[in-house]
Amino acid sequence: MEDCIFCKIANGEMGTLIYENEYVAAFDDINPQAPVHTLVVPKKHIESIEDLHFGGENHECNHDEPCDGKYIKELFKAIKEVAKIKGISESGYRVISNCGKDAKQTVNHLHFHIIGGRELNVQIL
Ligand code: AMP
Ligand code: ZN
Repeated sequence: MEDCIFCKIANGEMGTLIYENEYVAAFDDINPQAPVHTLVVPKKHIESIEDLHFGGENHECNHDEPCDGKYIKELFKAIKEVAKIKGISESGYRVISNCGKDAKQTVNHLHFHIIGGRELNVQIL
């Protein structure tokens, strides 16, 4: 989508990707909250978790136009891959996706924060 910074980054226009495949991309957060703070996004412009659509019960994924379920699977595969690249698979990490106003989502392109590299607070908030 035009004017979406995460679409531009995911397309590789900023040269900042640390991981990508056909469906998803990962890059470090510009304002890190921990030694590791990486964002994983779909290459398709989906605004938030609320805008995910999974199709009907007997829905079969068509490879030409993958359903959002395919993106979710790829996003979580990428989260594990990023954890491996960053060396935090064993030490652990937190995954957060802010959705909408009360969660203070500031970039309206679905993204998962991967936060780790140090012991995090027990309380999330
Ligand atoms: P939120 O929408 O609240 O989940 O947060 C969006 C996140 O994107 C924040 O942690 C920002 O620091 C981060 N961010 C915003 N612009 C960029 C950018 N150009 N490159 C990398 N991270 C960004
Ligand atoms: Zn976008």
